[in-house]
Amino acid sequence: MNSSSSSADPARSFLSVDTARAAILDSLSPLCGWEKVAVRAALGRVLRTDVIAPYNVPSHDNSAMDGYAIRAADLDAGTDTALAVVGTAYAGRPFSGIVGAGQAVRIMTGASIPQGADTIVVQEVVRRSDDRVFVPAGQKKGQNLRRAGEDLAEGGVALAAGRRCGPAELGLIASLGIAEVDVYRPLRVAFFSTGDEIASIGRPLCPGEVYDSNRYTLFGALSRLGCDLIDMGVIPDRPDALEAAFRDASEAADVIITSGGVSVGEADFIREMMARMGEVAFWKLAIKPGRPMAFGRIRNAVLFGLPGNPVAVMVTYFQFVQDALLKLMGVTPLPPAQRFAVQAAFTLRKQPGRTEYLRGRLQRDGAACSVALAGAQGSGVLSSMSEADCFVVLPEDCLSVQPGDTVYVQPFHGLL
Ligand code: AMP
Ligand code: MG
Repeated sequence: MNSSSSSADPARSFLSVDTARAAILDSLSPLCGWEKVAVRAALGRVLRTDVIAPYNVPSHDNSAMDGYAIRAADLDAGTDTALAVVGTAYAGRPFSGIVGAGQAVRIMTGASIPQGADTIVVQEVVRRSDDRVFVPAGQKKGQNLRRAGEDLAEGGVALAAGRRCGPAELGLIASLGIAEVDVYRPLRVAFFSTGDEIASIGRPLCPGEVYDSNRYTLFGALSRLGCDLIDMGVIPDRPDALEAAFRDASEAADVIITSGGVSVGEADFIREMMARMGEVAFWKLAIKPGRPMAFGRIRNAVLFGLPGNPVAVMVTYFQFVQDALLKLMGVTPLPPAQRFAVQAAFTLRKQPGRTEYLRGRLQRDGAACSVALAGAQGSGVLSSMSEADCFVVLPEDCLSVQPGDTVYVQPFHGLL
């Protein structure tokens, strides 16, 4: 990848992606409200308090394999040892006796280790003849045991406050016998589209109109995040309509997300309205697509004024808004930015001074991975967004990309 030195760069007055991200995240703290919910209802929610293990998991030493519980000291180091099989231990139905010298107990995965035994020999390696089992040499004392507390120790923090619950967390909570957990209340997000040319689906388009797609991409992304949504529709570029929309949104929601109207355009009253109703900064970001963006507060609600172009909405949402919402939802620490180095399978020339997010498709070349462009890269082209499975992130100082250059990608898995 060809790079420039960034010193004499006229685009320096633009805010870098990292600076804007940091400014947003630093200004936010988690919501206060919380509730107690049943385990299943905690899916996608964020723990407000630590989950403490009330006892050891597993609660008793048990077998990791189907096989025989034996005493390692009984085994001959050089040859097979014959042991007498004196019983069977099932998961949930332990062997009640004691394993004495020269004895073995047939044992199933998950069964408690019988008293006297200290080692499990897997069934695949032994030879069984009536009530005798022949154990080959070379077994290690203590092998194939799961120790009490090896997963979670009694009294320890099983899950820390700030963790968002996924399938593994639900299972972990249930494995402790815990039926309810404290989670932050859902984040309430109001969103609307702006623009006189924007039409809602359900009626034919008039000349010059375009259907509203931003409310649908935002609906999808915000639903996945588990927010409570207030869809306020399309608001025309009229001061009274915008003022009413911002007033209603700020009364009902923790966060307001708008699209359109933040660039310097004649018919865009939205900047003026945002500035009058709250404390809002209008940023020129060193990013493509998605240059203009507004961030601030209207009354108690946090405001994200995203650009209007459909792909710019998705890029700015994923680079700036999503982590901010997670922070408000109580997630700590925030998940690290996922970026992977792969080989480029395309040629591109690029202006310096801005970070570019291209729509890419990962492809496998033998053991290696490369990335191709997913189609036309215009900021209004949603079809290539749908074809793509990652963003290719080209840093500010990159000037061009040649096939074989190393580039960084952010896979959509987990993002979109
Ligand atoms: P704006 O930032 O308002 O100047 O809009 C930039 C471009 O994005 C214009 O071509 C708009 O028509 C288009 N646009 C704005 N909002 C939407 C929307 N909700 N759905 C689809 N296109 C939009
Ligand atoms: Mg507009």
